[in-house]
Amino acid sequence: MDTTPTVHRHKFETVVVGAGGAGLYAAMAAAEGGRSVAVLSKLYPTRSHTGAAQGGIGAALANVEEDRWEWHMFDTVKGGDYLVDQDSAEILAREAVETVYELEHFGLPFSRLPDGKIAQRKFGGHTYNFGEGPVHRSCYAADRTGHMILQTLFQQCMKRQVTFFNEFKVLDLIVSHDGRCTGVVALEIASGDFHVFHAKAVFFGTGGFGKMFRITSNAHTLTGDGNAVAYRRGVPMQDMEFYQFHPTGIYTLGILLSEGARAEGGILRNESGERFMERYAPTLLDLAPRDIVSRSMFQELKEGRGCGPKRDYLLLDLTHLPPEVLDERLPDITDFARTYLRVEPKSEPVPIQPTAHYAMGGIPTDNDGRVWKDGHSVIFDGFYAAGECACVSVHGANRLGTNSLVDILVFGRRAGKHMARYVAEADWPELPRGAEDQAVSLVDGILSRQSGERPVDIRETLQDEMNDKCFVVRNEPGLKEMDAKVAQLRSAFANVFIQDRGRLFNTDLVECLELGFMLDCAQTTVVAALARQESRGGHYREDFKERDDTRFLAHSLAFPGESSDSVRIDYKPVRITRFAPKERKY
Ligand SMILES: Cc1cc2nc3c(=O)[nH]c(=O)nc-3n(C[C@H](O)[C@H](O)[C@H](O)COP(=O)(O)OP(=O)(O)OC[C@H]3O[C@@H](n4cnc5c(N)ncnc54)[C@H](O)[C@@H]3O)c2cc1C
Repeated sequence: MDTTPTVHRHKFETVVVGAGGAGLYAAMAAAEGGRSVAVLSKLYPTRSHTGAAQGGIGAALANVEEDRWEWHMFDTVKGGDYLVDQDSAEILAREAVETVYELEHFGLPFSRLPDGKIAQRKFGGHTYNFGEGPVHRSCYAADRTGHMILQTLFQQCMKRQVTFFNEFKVLDLIVSHDGRCTGVVALEIASGDFHVFHAKAVFFGTGGFGKMFRITSNAHTLTGDGNAVAYRRGVPMQDMEFYQFHPTGIYTLGILLSEGARAEGGILRNESGERFMERYAPTLLDLAPRDIVSRSMFQELKEGRGCGPKRDYLLLDLTHLPPEVLDERLPDITDFARTYLRVEPKSEPVPIQPTAHYAMGGIPTDNDGRVWKDGHSVIFDGFYAAGECACVSVHGANRLGTNSLVDILVFGRRAGKHMARYVAEADWPELPRGAEDQAVSLVDGILSRQSGERPVDIRETLQDEMNDKCFVVRNEPGLKEMDAKVAQLRSAFANVFIQDRGRLFNTDLVECLELGFMLDCAQTTVVAALARQESRGGHYREDFKERDDTRFLAHSLAFPGESSDSVRIDYKPVRITRFAPKERKY
């Protein structure tokens, strides 16, 4: 192992961790008025996973037909199986409209209607007049909406002199003696040096953690770092059992074929060519929300109507669409089918299966992105979060397509604005001595070990088992086995060993640290799923098939338990303002 690492020190009023849509919007807003803002990202900003978003961003612009923010809010609440905090959903639906126009004014190249207005298409679960039929609400830039968002926001950050620290991996949060958040500790991947960032406000926009599953639409880097770092500092994780499975992952790979394909008219079929969604969601059909479509697919497979020798996939049929629709509106995803499956979507249906896609749960925040230290009533001064790592909560038990881009931008922006006001007034919390010690000993512990467990074995077991026992359909025996398995993997991880023990650009080390973060996310997910004895949205228990509002119309909070390896679950009420919970039918 190389010698003792160098520790560098920096001071910025605001430190933003993560350069996806949430982080960049927050940084841009926080930098208003010339305030000093640093963005730390383990990836180059424009490679953040927001860039993968294909389908679009939902906003009731009413460019194609009548639409209202109240209908968007209702769809969000109903889509989330009434676990949504409705004051937050109201903000999401109202501010989506001005956010899209702001992006347009920043230069985002949206696709256009013939009259020059921003084009809009239909998307799963989005309806007019409180559920009467699908509505055109998703604003898009072909199937590259997320990519365009990143480029646009990155340019705006440059314009506002935000300082970027790229390929810096945050490992710890710094907490002052009076309990305020006052910075982060990061590992510079290229050099292996540590960097202490002293700040008045810290924002996490670190994205999701789908890599804890084997079949996932998520990139290699979506490992829940921000969630685990916050959790290790005592912040509970909210609603972790609600993980979304997207219906159309490419067979065996999980790579996403966006709902945009069904929005343009794509149809799901089983082995006999039947449009099976007619039986499960007669009004919205293939554009029913994702939890319903994924579960319907699971049912088709279970009842032997899947395709192929193993009857383990279904088909997305685009063959009846005019070829120019595929070329102009779905160029990237049709290319995926050609590249990864050697299937020509203009003439053959595409094999698909549900894929782990989106974390509804995460770091609990208020509507300005301020983190709840205890999950519901005490603010963690100076600590903010938004985007997929956070839970505000606007998605409840199931997120509607296009609502994540709305979430990251609306709440990223609100957090940024709040931070600008906060740092203008707050004094500098003292930096505790030895702020970097915990992160340094985490890294040195791994680098100094001479033998032990291989991370790849732990990771593969985790992903396979999560796929088997904590996927679209769950039950008590499976979750109990998974809980024991995670405990076993966590103790193996305590003895983890990597071969490359140098400090320079050590990707083995980076992935090993990420594995530790994923184990934390998996553990809180499994324990919360075991405790929730009902079915709601993305969380389906075959041993408790009904929604149970008497016991579980509540958000779960997973706290670090008394012993280092246990999780304590608590609940808090859902905030209901306009829409009383009803049975969910489409
Ligand atoms: C294939 C695909 C298609 C999608 N399509 C849509 C869509 O059409 N519409 C929609 O609304 N949603 C869509 N989603 C969901 C949506 O894209 C994501 O939920 C959203 O972009 C997340 O944004 P974010 O800013 O929270 O995080 P990300 O964009 O994932 O960014 C996370 C950032 O955190 C950084 N980071 C993470 N850990 C660390 C660390 N330890 N230290 C430093 N930096 C760190 C990363 O470098 C990155 O910059 C899609 C998702 C996928 C996977």
